[in-house]
Amino acid sequence: MAENCLFCKIAAGEIPSTQVYSDDTYYAFRDINPGAPTHVLIVPRKHIARITDADPGDAELLGGLMLIANKIAAQEHLTDFRLALNCGPHAGQSVFHIHLHLMGGRDFSWPPG
Ligand code: AMP
Repeated sequence: MAENCLFCKIAAGEIPSTQVYSDDTYYAFRDINPGAPTHVLIVPRKHIARITDADPGDAELLGGLMLIANKIAAQEHLTDFRLALNCGPHAGQSVFHIHLHLMGGRDFSWPPG
């Protein structure tokens, strides 16, 4: 757990959130400022600040993140949805603990803004 990391604290239950999924490796919760009817953030409990900080030893962890997204999409009755992961401030990353956005329940355009 990294000091002063918002998502480490949320995953540890030190800061409240609306839990959607939890296991020993991952935690998922509803985005506080949703951009779609369903907007869930999925985080590994392991602190990785940016996706570019991941190393080959994280391959299973990162693959698992996608499978958890599938599980939550099914739980939320979503067949069509968007998964997004921002890396760096110019790409829209505002919290430096990797998180997968799972968004659904409306139509999306491409490319995103
Ligand atoms: P990103 O901009 O990709 O780093 O995404 C960060 C997301 O975290 C944004 O969509 C925020 O709305 C969301 N967020 C920030 N603080 C909280 C919080 N305390 N609980 C839930 N979601 C949050």
